[in-house]
Amino acid sequence: MDKQMLIGSRFEAGTESEEQILNPKTGETVVGLAEASHAQIDAAVDAAEKAFVSWSMTTPGERSSYLLKIADAIERDADGFAALESLNCGKPINAVRNDEIPAIVDCWRFFAGAIRSLHATVAGEYLPGHTSMIRRDPVGIIGSIAPWNYPLMMMAWKLAPAIAGGNTVVFKPSEQTPLTALKMAKLLADILPEGVVNIVLGRGETVGNALINHPKINMVSITGDVATGKKVLAAASKTVKRTHLELGGKAPVIVYNDADLEAVVSGIRAFGYYNAGQDCTAACRIYAEAGIYEKFVADLSSAVSSIRYNQADDTENEIGPLISKRQRDRVASFVERASDVKHIEITAGGRPGSDQGFFFQPTVVAGATQEDEIVRREVFGPVVSVTRFSGEEQALAWANDSDYGLASSVWTKDISKAMRAAARLQYGCTWVNTHFMLCNEMPHGGVKQSGYGKDMSIYALEDYTVVRHVMINHG
Ligand code: NAD
Repeated sequence: MDKQMLIGSRFEAGTESEEQILNPKTGETVVGLAEASHAQIDAAVDAAEKAFVSWSMTTPGERSSYLLKIADAIERDADGFAALESLNCGKPINAVRNDEIPAIVDCWRFFAGAIRSLHATVAGEYLPGHTSMIRRDPVGIIGSIAPWNYPLMMMAWKLAPAIAGGNTVVFKPSEQTPLTALKMAKLLADILPEGVVNIVLGRGETVGNALINHPKINMVSITGDVATGKKVLAAASKTVKRTHLELGGKAPVIVYNDADLEAVVSGIRAFGYYNAGQDCTAACRIYAEAGIYEKFVADLSSAVSSIRYNQADDTENEIGPLISKRQRDRVASFVERASDVKHIEITAGGRPGSDQGFFFQPTVVAGATQEDEIVRREVFGPVVSVTRFSGEEQALAWANDSDYGLASSVWTKDISKAMRAAARLQYGCTWVNTHFMLCNEMPHGGVKQSGYGKDMSIYALEDYTVVRHVMINHG
């Protein structure tokens, strides 16, 4: 197991306090890892600054070939990465190996191609005797901070467009899930020039805080909680840093009377509970129309009760535990408070799912109303609420009545109704008759307090580059 941070070309352990990295399936410690000191953070930023001079001058074709090598190396060691991610996050091995790793490899390959074909306004004479052209140049040094729900995938989403765009990076994984980032450190050091990517370990309030306040860092890219995003914005205002914020979500799912109920139930069983609901796009806030409400709740509750977890043979597991005892307790307290509300009924699950580790039973909270906490706040666990609605206007109004704006879906056989919803939902993404499907060619990112800035797609490359105008007077 790799335990050292990457600073320039040096591998070193942190020198500050130690964080215990746990196996969420058992609660046992896997390893203790010390966090970076201020001097080590400065050294990482200095290495990124030094590397920027030559990295930013490489051609898109050269950077592309580095990214392709990274993709190939991850693919060659897919089993090793999957095993480590599964150990650190408790994810079922099949979910990491078969869903996440191929998407991660594809992300690196997508940006290897995309950086070679950026488009812009044509160069031309917009003033007589003057030729104007548009450049897209790197932003500079990116401070990149990741969450714990998809550590290796978030690393790909952040690093691939940043370095493809000619930037250099200081990356901090979540203090709870640094293991695959440290394995990536070895892989990246073998492939990339010194200092292009640097990896430091530590908590948000210490190392993360130092990065977002660092005077030499030009842009902060963070995926995390809304409260963390607000801290990044406050810090960024001091030196007017660019920011790229992927914050929380509370995805509404509108199920009309005419939807294919079987497809909806199987969709929510998958997309409401994937990764134990620790997903900012999770299909967690269902609005079911009155005509199908009773049957939908009954069918969903029975389907959800069959989700497999905590089986000795991990290949049988569909979901894993929550990341920590703290997160498990947080989820449990949301469900407990919901069950105290008179009109709410817990129709599946509702309790911690094991004596050992941090499992929580896949849970359905039925009868919730728009004002209930369980409908309004992000739970980030295997918990889905169902609210009854009457008519299109009410569904759309309630769906939009949220501080969040990341993802949404609408389920109906009526294409006109689907198109009306797609036009009116204030979310970064609206799926019709599906949910949660992502591809590297399409953007992922929010509106409202879910943040701004896009991951994946050509739009991420736009975020990690700046538009510049060059004008030549030849009159
Ligand atoms: P978090 O905000 O606690 O932590 C995210 C990262 O920020 C971690 O690396 C943490 O160390 C760091 N951090 C925390 N406080 C900081 C500070 N003051 N300064 C600098 N860095 C700091 O979030 P989490 O609990 O790791 O992740 C769960 C959250 O992330 C959820 O709210 C979820 O919705 C969100 N999320 C969003 C997306 C998206 O694409 N929008 C994707 C995944 C997760």
